Amino acid sequence: MKTSIAIIGAGIAGITLARALAPSADVTIFEKSRGLGGRMANRRREGFTFDHGAQYFTARSPAFRSVAEDAIKAGHAGIWPKAVHTLRADGLVVDSRPPEPRYIGLPGMSGFANGLAEGLQIRKEATVAALKRTEHGWALTDSEGQDFGRFDLVLSTAPAPQTIRLMPEAFSGREALASVRMSGCFTLMIGLDEPLDLSFQAARIEDDVLSWIAVEGSKPGRGEKEALTIHSRNDWAEANLERDRDEVKSEMLASLTRLLGLDFSNAAWLDLHRWRYASVEKPAGQAFLFDEALGLGACGDWCLGNRVEAAVESATALSELLTTRLQGA
Ligand SMILES: Cc1cc2nc3c(=O)[nH]c(=O)nc-3n(C[C@H](O)[C@H](O)[C@H](O)COP(=O)(O)OP(=O)(O)OC[C@H]3O[C@@H](n4cnc5c(N)ncnc54)[C@H](O)[C@@H]3O)c2cc1C
Repeated sequence: MKTSIAIIGAGIAGITLARALAPSADVTIFEKSRGLGGRMANRRREGFTFDHGAQYFTARSPAFRSVAEDAIKAGHAGIWPKAVHTLRADGLVVDSRPPEPRYIGLPGMSGFANGLAEGLQIRKEATVAALKRTEHGWALTDSEGQDFGRFDLVLSTAPAPQTIRLMPEAFSGREALASVRMSGCFTLMIGLDEPLDLSFQAARIEDDVLSWIAVEGSKPGRGEKEALTIHSRNDWAEANLERDRDEVKSEMLASLTRLLGLDFSNAAWLDLHRWRYASVEKPAGQAFLFDEALGLGACGDWCLGNRVEAAVESATALSELLTTRLQGA
């Protein structure tokens, strides 16, 4: 009988892991949300489209580049050719360097994950709340005690602060998990009735509150309607995480007005998303965590860095170890 593996999380790490392990094991992904992709997320409201998590991803390793190029051929990804400038209080600093390819999902960022997940066994809206060791492997349950089954191995790709809550005291990776620091982010989404005439399509922002702005329509395959996605700084989000959402929105809008000289407070669509764990401030510094004796492992961007590519690298490294182990079993 094949080894049964439960993977917690259908972000890019969980999907990468499942694709690599599925040929040699019986793999099920449990994902708490309705959609796939985790922080590679998008939202469609009133005809406006927003990538409210990751904006684009790079693919520097030949293996991941080939995955990204295959996704382009399959229509699940595209290249965003726009330059990323820098917006400061004293104006726009234009970046004229030729950019390395910036990949995006199609039709929104989660499209990349959806394409890669085709054929995988995934249980959506299934939040794993507890792991219990039994005679027949690890028993997974949700917060109401609903039984998700027994598995020989459990691999968590949830952000480190969430993974540590699931892992037993005896898990050998607890110290590494506890050393990880992640920070939050607020995403402001603005939909407009009229097109804007901005001198840039994407910019990093040097400001006390904001860090990023993108004009969604400049990405291939997005809607026709004018939509802006704005991210707060991570340190500002950390200091304001529990603050009233309307106040957060107002402060982000005020900063935008200062920078662009435009008032968006009466925009056709205004929305705010809070990411509790957006960015990795201090990674674990090891490619993955795996406790052979317990049959428990963990991976994700928080192992190595702060980007989609770090998540892929971490999941690939764990899958390589496990594939060798499974094929030798
Ligand atoms: C605002 C923002 C902007 C970003 N910009 C960029 C960028 O431009 N470029 C870039 O490369 N990266 C960017 N990133 C980072 C990038 O999104 C992440 O590095 C990457 O998506 C992490 O993938 P992951 O699979 O490790 O984790 P995640 O995407 O977080 O996936 C973890 C999954 O686990 C699920 N989960 C958690 N707990 C449970 C549970 N108990 N049971 C079941 N499921 C569970 C979650 O719902 C989630 O789907 C950005 C992130 C944010 C938030």
